[in-house]
Amino acid sequence: MDIHEYQAKEILSNFGVAVPAGALAYSPEQAAYRARELGGEKWIVKAQVHAGGRGKAGGVKLCESDNEIYEACEGMFGRKLVTHQTGPEGKGIYRVYVEAAVPIDREIYLGFVMDRSTQRVMIVASSEGGMEIEEIAETRPDSIVRSIVEPAVGLQEFQAREIAFSLGIEPGLVQQMVRTLKGCYAAFSESDATMVEINPLVVTGDDRILALDAKMSFDDNALFRHPQISELRDKSQEDPRESNAADRGLAYVGLDGNIGCIVNGAGLAMATMDTIKLAGGEPANFLDIGGGASPERVAKAFRLVLSDSNVQAVLVNIFAGINRCDWVAEGVVQVLKELNLEIPVVVRLAGTNVEEGQKILAQSGLPVIRANTLMEAAQRAVSAWKSDAFASAS
Ligand code: ADP
Ligand code: MG
Repeated sequence: MDIHEYQAKEILSNFGVAVPAGALAYSPEQAAYRARELGGEKWIVKAQVHAGGRGKAGGVKLCESDNEIYEACEGMFGRKLVTHQTGPEGKGIYRVYVEAAVPIDREIYLGFVMDRSTQRVMIVASSEGGMEIEEIAETRPDSIVRSIVEPAVGLQEFQAREIAFSLGIEPGLVQQMVRTLKGCYAAFSESDATMVEINPLVVTGDDRILALDAKMSFDDNALFRHPQISELRDKSQEDPRESNAADRGLAYVGLDGNIGCIVNGAGLAMATMDTIKLAGGEPANFLDIGGGASPERVAKAFRLVLSDSNVQAVLVNIFAGINRCDWVAEGVVQVLKELNLEIPVVVRLAGTNVEEGQKILAQSGLPVIRANTLMEAAQRAVSAWKSDAFASAS
């Protein structure tokens, strides 16, 4: 799960990371009021969307008066911000963060990620802040500092000092840098984060080290341990297909193809997507209906897959152990009767109660295409989709 910049800043500042003074607003009037409350003469108005690259896309504006704040807000509220991270459809702006503008001397990149090869938290830092890490890795790879944290002891003072020195932080500011690094690490590990990124972390003209931007992502499987963090979820920023699925306890990931997949088990779901590709098609989604799925659950999964308008054929692939083929077949029949579908549906069933399942499909009189193996199922789905697409095109 991702959260907004202002939320990440609040969490980090509770762990001792210094951030500029700022306040949230839901309307231009409120933004102007917030700026007056904050005081000062220059403010930064920042669109709160779950994506980076806002600055270049017009989602971060320097303002020096009430009027400029209104203008900046008018260009943001209710619009979609398209950055290189949002995809072409963009993300809706419904909140802005008003922050005191600070005088920047230096911009640093700071990231905390899970390093799978060492199974440890890795700190990635660079003296070249402001650019995306991918860009830094390409243009200034030598500037990147990496440091692995030993989980038994956490981030040590000496280790944090080493990072500060390798970034060329002045001796007088090293203590602030150590505090920042330790605060980020504590926030990361105590809240089961999967990522903390501060880009840029800045050294100001008046010798402060401040997080000017902040991004945090959390491990969905650990959210039950952090009810205060779960509450920060903002569905307006999520792919509606995926948040719908999460609400129903289904594991769904939307993709760009046309063949919808309804499968049990993550491994089989991956294999099904591979086989569709092998057969010359493109999967529209990953979907794992889980074990012991009732007909209603299968029907829900089906409706979810069909809610994607790109779907032009559906492949149901069930290898039933805990699941029951008859329940799956009932779910399929239920949906097909209810929706009057005009796209081809291929069903491959194997395992528990397979005969009953086949019988239900056969007796339904519905035009379900059946298959015995995964390869056969994928080939039938792809060829049915192709001939269907051809028929409707001509
Ligand atoms: P994004 O990464 O989405 O583009 P940032 O929060 O990093 O958004 O802001 C983009 C740039 O705007 C920063 O690199 C920084 O130069 C500037 N900026 C952001 N917040 C402030 C601030 N409070 N004071 C001064 N400059 C800021
Ligand atoms: Mg940034």
